[in-house]
Amino acid sequence: MTEIFTGSFTQQEPIPQEGIEAAIAVLNHGRLHRYNVAEGEFSEAALLEQEFAAQTGAKYCVAVASGGYALACSLRAVGVQPGETVLTNAFTLAPVPGAIASIGAKPEFVGVTDELVIDLDDLEAKLGHAEVLMLSHMRGHLCDMNRLMQMCDAADVTVIEDCAHTMGAHWRGVPSGRQGAIGCYSMQTYKHVNSGEGGFLITDDEEIAARAIILSGSYMLYERHLAAPGPEVFERVKYTTPNVSGRMDNLRAAILRPQLRDLETQVKRWNERYDVVEQGLSETPGLKLVKRHPNARPVGSSIQFLLLDWSPKAVNAVISRCAARGVELKWFGGAEPAGFTSRYDSWRYTEAERMPASDRILTGIVDMRLPLTFSLDDCALIARIIRAEVGAVWQQHSV
Ligand SMILES: *Cc1c(COP(=O)(O)O)cnc(C)c1O
Repeated sequence: MTEIFTGSFTQQEPIPQEGIEAAIAVLNHGRLHRYNVAEGEFSEAALLEQEFAAQTGAKYCVAVASGGYALACSLRAVGVQPGETVLTNAFTLAPVPGAIASIGAKPEFVGVTDELVIDLDDLEAKLGHAEVLMLSHMRGHLCDMNRLMQMCDAADVTVIEDCAHTMGAHWRGVPSGRQGAIGCYSMQTYKHVNSGEGGFLITDDEEIAARAIILSGSYMLYERHLAAPGPEVFERVKYTTPNVSGRMDNLRAAILRPQLRDLETQVKRWNERYDVVEQGLSETPGLKLVKRHPNARPVGSSIQFLLLDWSPKAVNAVISRCAARGVELKWFGGAEPAGFTSRYDSWRYTEAERMPASDRILTGIVDMRLPLTFSLDDCALIARIIRAEVGAVWQQHSV
């Protein structure tokens, strides 16, 4: 009998009851705007920032409207000017080069290795081109952060980390997002906590924090923040920092606070699911699993594997055969951008040099989400289906 999977790859878990109740309390009192507080009250947004700062060990935290907003806000906060080049990963999602383009700067792409991390040799060659690296921990794969930070520090390049896929991940026991000058996160539905939309920016730098708070749309109400520098820092930046509104509101903050408290439990559950799929796919002929750095504790909210040097026809055959059995795979190598996936050569608002070594990797990346609504049995079934279909195509085409 042919096994079929019937679950949904885009179905998240419900918002925890505590979050629903906190949201209803906000709806009942009606003070949804983060600066609309009753006498002596701290807003949900301010409390959320304080809690996330404590959780990551950062001095300062700003909650904003989206992950993409946090990235663009970071670039402005560190002073990137229109026309300047910002280095970033060739393997990432569209909001990352999009954030760079949104402030009139130019993304320059750095290659990807078969561990799906930034190619540090390529980075070394390009470090002289820019003052800022927007490092995307795409799909949760962490590069050798020690080497990266040494290289960037030596070249005086500021690192902004895109931690959309590493909220809850660690590098040598330290939360991801704490190695660079700024860490940015997304709370959009498909990330590790879910408020529909939302973003965080964390930093230890008081001026970056003050600028980010003013940029985010604080008007002159910055004293209502709890994870912010003192008023004297705002005095230094308040006349020269524009207000580019993109605030977090109290409704979403209320939904997020209990989810952040549960993050560690959720990370464990994701990693259990990842391990089951990885185990089920191990030693599948023609399929290469992605090695993860021993110093990293990632979050397995998705899994990638490589069909390296397979023809586009064969990769498409695997994807459609898996789809017919209910397993939704995404191909980063597809020539046309589709759904959430696109490649650097689809971002034609910027000029990108071809990177043949990276193209070979990108062409082979197959990606799958692992929502927590999947049971461990579901994960084992999914792995059996992929294994069988990869095997069947591999035999037919002997690619
Ligand atoms: C989701 C995501 C972001 C930010 O996305 P928003 O949808 O703006 O919250 C940034 N980088 C990566 C890699 C992402 O997947």
